[in-house]
Amino acid sequence: MNATRGGVLRVALDRPLRAAYDYLAPPGRDVASIPPGVRIRVPVGRARAVGVVVGRASASELPAARLRAAEAVLDEAPLFDAASLALLEWTAGYYHHPLGEVIAAALPKALRGGAPLEARTECLHATAEGVAAQAAGEPRRAAQQRALLERLASATGGLDAAALAAAQPNWRGAARALVARGWARLDTRVAPPTATPAPAALGAGPPDGSGAWAPETIPALTPEQSAAVTAITGAAGYAACVLQGATGSGKTEVYLRAVAHALASGRGALVLVPEIGLTPQLLARFRARFAQPIAVLHSGLTDTERLAAWRDAHAGRAAIVIGTRSAVFAPVRNLGLIVVDEEHDASYKQQEGGCRYSARDLAVLRARHADVPVVLGSATPCFETLHNVDGGRYRRLLLPRRADQAAAPQLALIDLRAHPPRDGLAAPVLRAIERHLATGGQALVYINRRGYAPTLLCTACGWIAPCQACDARLTVHQGAGRLRCHYCGAEEPLPARCPRCGYTVKPVGQGTERIEQALAELFPGERLVRLDRDTARRPGDIEQVMRAVLSGEARILVGTQMVTKGHHFPGVTLVAVLNADQGLFSTDFRAAERLAQTIVQVAGRAGRDARAGEVLIQTEYPEHPLLASLLREGYEGFAAAGLAERAAAHWPPFGRLAVLRASATASGAVFDFLQAARRAAGASEGVRLLGPVAAALARRAGRHHAQLLVESHERAPLQRFLKGWVAALDALPAARRVRWALDVDPLETQ
Ligand SMILES: [Zn+2]
Ligand SMILES: [Zn+2]
Repeated sequence: MNATRGGVLRVALDRPLRAAYDYLAPPGRDVASIPPGVRIRVPVGRARAVGVVVGRASASELPAARLRAAEAVLDEAPLFDAASLALLEWTAGYYHHPLGEVIAAALPKALRGGAPLEARTECLHATAEGVAAQAAGEPRRAAQQRALLERLASATGGLDAAALAAAQPNWRGAARALVARGWARLDTRVAPPTATPAPAALGAGPPDGSGAWAPETIPALTPEQSAAVTAITGAAGYAACVLQGATGSGKTEVYLRAVAHALASGRGALVLVPEIGLTPQLLARFRARFAQPIAVLHSGLTDTERLAAWRDAHAGRAAIVIGTRSAVFAPVRNLGLIVVDEEHDASYKQQEGGCRYSARDLAVLRARHADVPVVLGSATPCFETLHNVDGGRYRRLLLPRRADQAAAPQLALIDLRAHPPRDGLAAPVLRAIERHLATGGQALVYINRRGYAPTLLCTACGWIAPCQACDARLTVHQGAGRLRCHYCGAEEPLPARCPRCGYTVKPVGQGTERIEQALAELFPGERLVRLDRDTARRPGDIEQVMRAVLSGEARILVGTQMVTKGHHFPGVTLVAVLNADQGLFSTDFRAAERLAQTIVQVAGRAGRDARAGEVLIQTEYPEHPLLASLLREGYEGFAAAGLAERAAAHWPPFGRLAVLRASATASGAVFDFLQAARRAAGASEGVRLLGPVAAALARRAGRHHAQLLVESHERAPLQRFLKGWVAALDALPAARRVRWALDVDPLETQ
């Protein structure tokens, strides 16, 4: 270590290197005056980069001759407070990802590039000479300049660009002349605050189509809601509360009350949602309840919108921040509460690219650091969360169905062996749809596959339309006349004949498009709507579908996973689940949990008034123990059985996993790397390596994917092992020929 007079700054740069970089303070500044959390401009090789100061040290491991001075400190106040910086550092450490990249991902693009923390605007002032000249009647001939100088002389503090443009649209030419004569001075100042505008398509109006939200009437709380609110708001410091209740049981009202309590105590609230576009109802209720700016952060924003929302949150103009996964890092002034809605949702885990963190887990950690309550809401909490309830680490707050709400839906299995389906629909399901429509109900038909058919087959020679870049079949999109790969996005025209033998080809199997078409033929005269990624390309599309269903105009809704999220359809009395079997035989250890969550979530959309909804699940395996336990004991019993199975197998949450994933255009390079990685692990105490094996879909978008699984009974030995291992992987020559990433606590293991 080389002690350096004045010390060094540790700077995290947006580079794929794990170590922080050491710099001397910029000329004229000393290290002690530069707080962690500010941005700094530094030289890197021959280029410049913007980094964030993450620490200060008295000595550096770099030889003094190689230490360079930073160029400029960009912020007066830190972008990240100590708690946020600690969360980012913990994230980088736990998920073994370079800190600079983790920090960069938490910042809007403009701030990464060095834009000012607060928006600035140009400001024009009269100089003392200018005021004197104006008093003396100057300038005599240039009318534009004279008018401008007159304005400036009477405006103490100067005029900003917006005010100038309003008063004198062509002010710039005159301003240049005045500046040249020394009568005016142009500088910048912090722009007047602008609260985040409501995104046009989101929460713009209620889904009933009336165009305006009624003033929010605050509903009375049930005793259970009241107890939940008290438990959350009465917590002295950190408390993790699992708010468990079916759709329509009033979870959102509990969130609203808890947020109101935080605001009343002068604190801010962070609310995480799986997908903004899928939860317009929640966002709309927050907007209707709180007459103050809400910063909304999600992936659908433009860079400018994200920057504005981030700035509002950071400056404390917006005390409520609502956002998706990456909003877990959002700045919130004086944080008082965190809510994670639909905490079981897979979208909280970053699964591709960058640092593969779980926003739900980080939300709990952030709450613990900030010593504030965190609420995890769901009708179907994930097994990890239930395990934490069992262990007394989380407190469960149950919301039973309200008295004015329908009874729990009745689930029944339809045996496809006894009732062979036509066009994917079994006769008892069709009869049930008919019955419900006849009595004024609506039907929701769920199939987790978009498109017309998953396969295009030649019945003469057996040819199946393949994706050229993936080990996958192309999906038929009849309406668009295309074949599309749902893995890599490749597409081609839908052929009328087999390209190999010339015989007619035929779509095999069902997707939402085909089910919609079949139902339209079977129920002519009834309006149908479809909700999947093909029909909902823009944010407004979802609300249009919701309006059609909520107004009762549409009688049948066909949809994918999208219909299981967020929306409440009180008119739906029948739910049909068409392809439950997909989840029954997966080798992934979480498949059963996900299937049960989906069934319970989609079933939760059914039922109204005092009438219980009916839920029919088509299956070829009615005796399957998973389905049996779900029907007999509900999600609770199912989860208890599932957790017992996990405990026996030491799977999470009873054991710990990490997956090393790699891909390359040549499969040899992938396996060379993973074999080398395995050797580099050596004899590792407390962990077991499994693999390498090819991924379930080995070739995707022209790249071969394979992986190595690391398991351990405990978190500590796994973390100890990963730390050393990742450093060794960085140094492997074989690593340069592949893309690789470490996934700690993976959602999937195949
Ligand atoms: Zn053929
Ligand atoms: Zn493909």
